[in-house]
Amino acid sequence: MTRSTKIVATIGPASREPEVLVRMIEAGMDVARLNFSHGTPAEHAETITRIRDASSRAGRPVAVLQDLPGPKLRIGPLEGDRVELFSGEKLEIVCDTEFEGNSKRMSLNWPGLAEALRPDEIVYLADGLVCLVVESIDLDSGVLSLRVEAGGPVGGRGGLNVPGEVASLPSTSDEDIELLKLGEAAGVDIVALSFVRSAEDIAKVREHTRMPVIAKIEKPQAVDRAEEIIRASDGVMVARGDLGIEMPLPEVPLVQKRLIALAGRHARPSITATQMLESMVLAPRPTRAEVGDVANAILDGTDAVMLSQETAIGAHPVAAVAMMDAIARATEPDLPIERWNEERVDHDPTDAAYSIAHTAAETARDLNLKALVIPTLSGRSVRLVSAHRPRVPIYALSPGRETVRRCNLMWGVRAAGMRRHEVTEELIADAASRALEEGWVEVGDRVGITAGLPSGRPGTTSLFQVQVIEAPASR
Ligand code: PEP
Repeated sequence: MTRSTKIVATIGPASREPEVLVRMIEAGMDVARLNFSHGTPAEHAETITRIRDASSRAGRPVAVLQDLPGPKLRIGPLEGDRVELFSGEKLEIVCDTEFEGNSKRMSLNWPGLAEALRPDEIVYLADGLVCLVVESIDLDSGVLSLRVEAGGPVGGRGGLNVPGEVASLPSTSDEDIELLKLGEAAGVDIVALSFVRSAEDIAKVREHTRMPVIAKIEKPQAVDRAEEIIRASDGVMVARGDLGIEMPLPEVPLVQKRLIALAGRHARPSITATQMLESMVLAPRPTRAEVGDVANAILDGTDAVMLSQETAIGAHPVAAVAMMDAIARATEPDLPIERWNEERVDHDPTDAAYSIAHTAAETARDLNLKALVIPTLSGRSVRLVSAHRPRVPIYALSPGRETVRRCNLMWGVRAAGMRRHEVTEELIADAASRALEEGWVEVGDRVGITAGLPSGRPGTTSLFQVQVIEAPASR
């Protein structure tokens, strides 16, 4: 049985070794995430080379997702990379500078924070575990004096969260665009933008790239504007780590369900992220609650589940991927496929590709087809078919190597290369024979194939054909 849910795994010191990467791909990693908030561009370029090598050794395509920091507030480096803050103690944060801080004084990467805050407001460090209250602000020197309300360990260059709206926070910075260009040059396939607050943030990134752009939803303003953001992007990440600090934590599960459903309505893939198997950072097995969390995200209809610390710095990166794989396989037999086929996606009356995708999913069920075979240039028709959640495997074929890799984020899709065709009949015949060559189907299987007329241009899918796979003509 194949697995439909995709696995995104964050690569870090625990998973950069070539052997570990190969084993993670064999265990089921579909997308490797590189967090550009950490590490140098040279390190990321080297990691991408290793991922590509590991992917060919494992014989499976892997997409590389570049996670851009966006307007993330970060403290500077710390002595020994980690300090302990104790409740009741005082701390100074110096805005717009960088120095090696300690438990008394730290630097921050944004000049505007001193102006944006008022006394008695709260800020968080260490993913919300450490809570600080503003006591006073010196605007001339940009120094915030704070009281530690709830103490704990704080890591160097960690995030600082201010709950609620900070209107003056910059959107995508020149530094993000610089990182985007470096990532693209190093060969990433998909880009994700942190702390998106509006569709304009996505538009700004699009000015600089043709890669698919994933919107990370981690601010309450983004939740409020989720529809416009999702329509402007190529997919969405439910970034529960920051979301759980920036808005009341008990509301996050319902927000997750709404975002996944909304992404489905607009036929965009969704990634559910953060702390999914958190205890596996240390332990070889997850908690029951974590297993339930992964299964529930899959039942919500997420395209992909994501591992962060578990694979970046954890002690069991391969086992964490294998556990995700096992949970997905155990959960998928119970998905509400028939309802999803009917209602999951909102149709666009101006775009035939939506109706064709819907027809493909329904026909696969009605005629008990073996598979859907989708030749694609841009990957768009695959995205639409995948969003309808057909009950049979979706096999994508593309002349573009990037498209083949990008399909790895989409639910139920396996992808491989094919030649480019200008004549529709040849495209369909070649798609059928490539599916046979890949071992996806057998002679005599009945499959559905979509195609575009004229077939040479992306975004022109207008045809759906049911056909029986024939034996290759002998030469
Ligand atoms: C998150 O906040 O959940 C997230 C995925 O973003 P990051 O890991 O960059 O903090």
